[in-house]
Order: sequence, then C-alpha cells, then structure tokens
Amino acid sequence: MPGLLERVWNTGRLGLWARGESGIAYRDREELARLQDRRVRALVAHAWRETEYYRDWLKAAGAEPGDIRGAADLARLPVIDKIVLTRHPERFEAQSLKGKDGITLYSSGTSGYRRHLRHDARAVLQALAAGRRQRLALAEYVGRESGYREAVFNREGSVGGQLRAFFETRTWVPQGVELRRRRFSPALPFAELAAGVDEFAPEVIRGYGSHLGAFYQWLAESGRRFHKPRAVVYGADGMPPAQRRLIGEELGIPVLSTYQAVEALRIGFECPARAGFHISVDQVVVRVKGAAPGERGEMVLTNLWNYATPVINYQLGDLVTLSDGACPCGRTLPLLTSIDGRADDLVARPDGTRVHALALLAPLQKAPGVMQVQVEQREMDDFLLRVIWRQGEARDAEELKRRVEQVLGAAAAVEVEEVDAIATTSAGKVKSLISRLEGR
Ligand SMILES: [Zn+2]
Repeated sequence: MPGLLERVWNTGRLGLWARGESGIAYRDREELARLQDRRVRALVAHAWRETEYYRDWLKAAGAEPGDIRGAADLARLPVIDKIVLTRHPERFEAQSLKGKDGITLYSSGTSGYRRHLRHDARAVLQALAAGRRQRLALAEYVGRESGYREAVFNREGSVGGQLRAFFETRTWVPQGVELRRRRFSPALPFAELAAGVDEFAPEVIRGYGSHLGAFYQWLAESGRRFHKPRAVVYGADGMPPAQRRLIGEELGIPVLSTYQAVEALRIGFECPARAGFHISVDQVVVRVKGAAPGERGEMVLTNLWNYATPVINYQLGDLVTLSDGACPCGRTLPLLTSIDGRADDLVARPDGTRVHALALLAPLQKAPGVMQVQVEQREMDDFLLRVIWRQGEARDAEELKRRVEQVLGAAAAVEVEEVDAIATTSAGKVKSLISRLEGR
C-alpha cells in the first residue's frame, strides 16, 4: 500500500494534469498531431525494448522502431488480433514494469471470456485526470463541474469500481472536492432502482446504455412520478436509438455517452453538440482500417499511455466512422460519427423486468472451474448454460444454478450442459447470451 508521501505526490501530479485538461480539446490540430506522433515513437521504442512479442512483430514486418515516425506509419504494421491479447496478455507486458505499481483490470465481456490487462500507475492516474475533459462536456448540462451527486449503476467489481478503488488508495483528496457518488447494482429490480434514485436525487446517472435505456422505458410506461437527473451518461455498450430518443426528447433528460475499453481507458467522449465522439488523440491513436473519412470500417486502436502492457495496432472489434470535418462545438479533437458493435444484451427476468447481461454473465464467468460460458434464454423462465470447464479443476454445476437464481430469482429453471466449444456467429464472434424471446 503506498505511503502518505506517495499519495500526496500522486495527488500533485493529478492536479497538474487535470489543469491541462481545460485546454486540450481545443488545441491546434497540428500541435495535437505532433504530440501524438511523439508519443507513438516513444511507445514503439518502449515496446521494442521491453517485450519479445513486439520485437518479433516489428521484425516480421521488416521494421525497426526508427521506421515508425508517427501515427500514420502504424498503418504499415500488422494488426494485432483481439484473441491473442485476450488469451495471452502476459506476452505483451513490459519486462521492467512487472513488479512496479499498477493495476490488473478485469473486464467481463459478452465475448464470454474474462479479459484482464495490466496498467501502470501513471497511466491510470493520467486516465483519471483525463476524466475532466468528459466532465467539462457534461458541465454544459449539469451547470457545474464538481460537487454534485452522481448515481452509478454498475456491478460490484466492474472496471469503473476497480479504478475507483485504485484512485482512493493512491491519492489523497480532501473531503468535499469529490463528487458524492452512490452505486446501485444493475441486478436490482427496476422498482427498487427507481426508489433508490428518488431518495438520492442525483444530478447525473451513469450506467450501461442498454440497461439505462430499458430502465427509463419501464419508468415512462409505469406512469409513476420519478426524479429526473440533469444528464444520463452511459458507456460500455450501446443504447437502442428509440430509448435514447425517449430519454432525451420525451423525458427531456440529456443523454451523453463515453467510449472506453479495458485496453484503453479513454478513447473518446460524446460531444455536447451531439456531432459524435471526440477522440482523445493525446491518449490513443484510432485508425479505421481500409475506410476513408465518412466510411464505416474496423477500428484499430493504439493506447499511447499504458506502458505496462503496450497495446499497439489492436483490432478492438468495433465498427466506426471517422469524420474529417470540424465540430460546431469548437473542440479540435477529431470526431467519430458512429460506433457500432458495442451492443450488449439484456436478460428478461421471469417477473418481466430486465437486467443487464453482464449482471448475469460476470458471476458465471467467475464461478470456480468455468473457462467459458454461454447463456441461452429459451423461455422467460428457462435457461440453458453451455459451459467449457477448465481442465483439472473442480466443476460445480449446482453453483452455476445458484448464481443464476441470485440474479434472476428462484423462478428460473436452469440446465447446465458441458461442451467442448461454443459456436461462433457468422461474423466470427462468440455470443455469450442468446435470447429466444425475440418478438414476444
Ligand atoms: Zn464537438
């Protein structure tokens, strides 16, 4: 555990970085491009020095670090597949940072695998400081930047929660400066969530897009009176357009989204003028493979800040559209006009309400002996779990049933089937949640 001196030092660094945040989104485009190129060169040199994987990768492409002079040169290098980094993150870790302060973030994905990736302490603190550029965009709706109440609908052990715990043990922040936060589990029935929100009366509510969308649809249909925050912010997955319209237009609550991944903590944030997502080019390089500006293509990501596990030219799996136009809000950070592929699913409960897929998948993925799991909802109250068990570990199907019951209630019937492989979709993706309830 870091001592007080280190915490005070970190707090000082954070304060300094946070001050730079007020101007970064408005800096001259060429100046931003030079800054990005400088960070690309430094990252590639670091990855070459510190990891055998990247040395082999560059050599195979016939390149040396000196050949990569900036972001544009990354297009000459091969793309790193998501599966490789997901299954073998240790191959990407920098030798000299292995014993140093940092955090291994765990992310339960709907791909069925639990991903984990190590970030160094500096990268995490910089990402936290960079949260300010999102809060400044949000302040246009909330009216102020700090001191407000924020309700967070996320799972215990979510990436956001892990980062918060890291922040609290590494810094020293006086009371009253921080936001007043309260966490609500997305596994709670909507009626309980609504009662909690009414009582806490937050200015901002954060959560998963699909879950918040379903929550507000339920609230609107229930006909009850409810507390309205000044803004709703979602990340991690998509919100169906119809529900976004309902919240923004019919209920009159502004909706903003953020874009991040466990591989890069800050990719972008939604513009308050709603023109798209501003990319934080000082922190990441976003390329769109084989697509011109205005065309949709595969997103390729480089995280310029995390030196513990360099992530370079990584195919995240999202489809995005990059714009080369200027934004009416005045920010110079380039825009992504669309992000597809973040759509997560919701699970219908036997009582008719819904929970976010991760509220069900995360505890199953973490259960003893489980390597991969797929949930198929056959009927409202009937579930089939396909499980790949880990070799040589105890397996406990009853424990899986208990975990389903904890989230969905005792009315759910659960069958557990052992499988050797889980079929992929035509796009080559694993779908962790299959619903047969469509259209009912
Ligand atoms: Zn903008």
